[in-house]
Amino acid sequence: MKKLYVIGIGPGKSDYMTQAAHSALSRCELICGYTVYIDLIKNGYPNKQFYSTAMTQETERCEYALSKANEGITAAIVCSGDAAVYGMAGLVYQLAQKYAEVEIEIVAGITAALSGGAVLGAPLTNDFAVVSLSDLLTDWQLIERRIAAAAMADFVICLYNPSSKKRSDYLQKACDIVLQYRSEKTICGYVKNIGRDGEQSGIITLSQLRCFSADMFTTIFIGSTATQIINGKMVTARGYENKP
Ligand code: SAH
Repeated sequence: MKKLYVIGIGPGKSDYMTQAAHSALSRCELICGYTVYIDLIKNGYPNKQFYSTAMTQETERCEYALSKANEGITAAIVCSGDAAVYGMAGLVYQLAQKYAEVEIEIVAGITAALSGGAVLGAPLTNDFAVVSLSDLLTDWQLIERRIAAAAMADFVICLYNPSSKKRSDYLQKACDIVLQYRSEKTICGYVKNIGRDGEQSGIITLSQLRCFSADMFTTIFIGSTATQIINGKMVTARGYENKP
């Protein structure tokens, strides 16, 4: 059988990886991924072949893994967090149309919203929206509309890709949009390097978040009107306490 796994490895350290991801990786001969993610897992799988490429080489990397799977080599593509959340899973299905015999299996992983949420407390207890600030593949105008819609509807907003060298003021722009609908005192949180060395987190207000310098390994949480600080943790009330 020709097989390609697309595996979410979770945020970082191996204990955040699911058992299913671990056993799929153990079954593979070849593991492909972005260099940073391959480096995170390499030591745990000493007898495998690895193929790592730079961040912008996604299509090439997926093509390579598919062609190897088509030759009968059981292969995996790894992504951080979940493989379908701003990951390779969709692209693999698109490219796999040319490789009818290759069976694709997606293995879910813990996405940064969930692992980062746990670090901050319980920010996502009610409805939340996830928006990526990367405009590499999505028009910035559309990203702005999505932020505004989520802010207007009082979702907790989780921001992925909050910054890069080319996009240093995007988080500030996103905060300015949210500030049209929410108070400056809105509770926000950030988590850097979730589950990795150098993990760092904090709870700040929306006006402080506007000036916060995030990097590409940071996930941002903007609270709703029901978000509060309890015992130093970011907590969104679901409303149980108001029920008779
Ligand atoms: N597939 C990944 C998301 C990839 S997009 C997932 O499901 O988590 C890349 C963005 O994800 C980063 O810019 C950051 O916002 C977030 N992210 C991924 N891993 C992270 C980590 N370990 N710590 C903090 N943020 C992370």
